[in-house]
Amino acid sequence: MRMTDQRRVIARVLQAAIDHPDVEELHRRANAIDNRISISTVYRTVKLFEDAGIIERHDFRDGRSRYETVNDEHHDHLIDVRSGEVIEFRSEDIERLQELVARELGFQLVGHRLELYAVPLGEDKRHR
Ligand SMILES: [Zn+2]
Repeated sequence: MRMTDQRRVIARVLQAAIDHPDVEELHRRANAIDNRISISTVYRTVKLFEDAGIIERHDFRDGRSRYETVNDEHHDHLIDVRSGEVIEFRSEDIERLQELVARELGFQLVGHRLELYAVPLGEDKRHR
C-alpha cells in the first residue's frame, strides 16, 4: 500500500485512539493535524486499512462503523446500550469455552467476535 502523507496522518490518529472512533470522529481528529484531509479520504483510507488487516471494523448496533487497530492482545467488547460506552474485556473462561464449542462441533477455532450488550446493574428493571 502506498503511504501518502494523508494516509499516514489517519494511521497515526488510529494508532493513538484508545476508543473506537467512527469515520466522522477520525475525520475530526485527522483534520486537527491536516485540514486538507476530506471525509471521503478518511472513508477510502479506513477501507484500505481494513482490507489490509491493519484495522478492524466493528458494528456496535448504533448504525455507525467503528474502527480500531489490530493488535496482538485480543479483547472483546461490552456495549452499554444506554450511554453507548464501549468497554474492552478479556475472559479466559469465554476464550476456553469458545474453543471447546468449536471442537465439539468438529472445528478448530481460528477467530471469534463477541459483543455483549448491557445496561448498568440496577437499571434494567427501572426502564422496562
Ligand atoms: Zn476494542
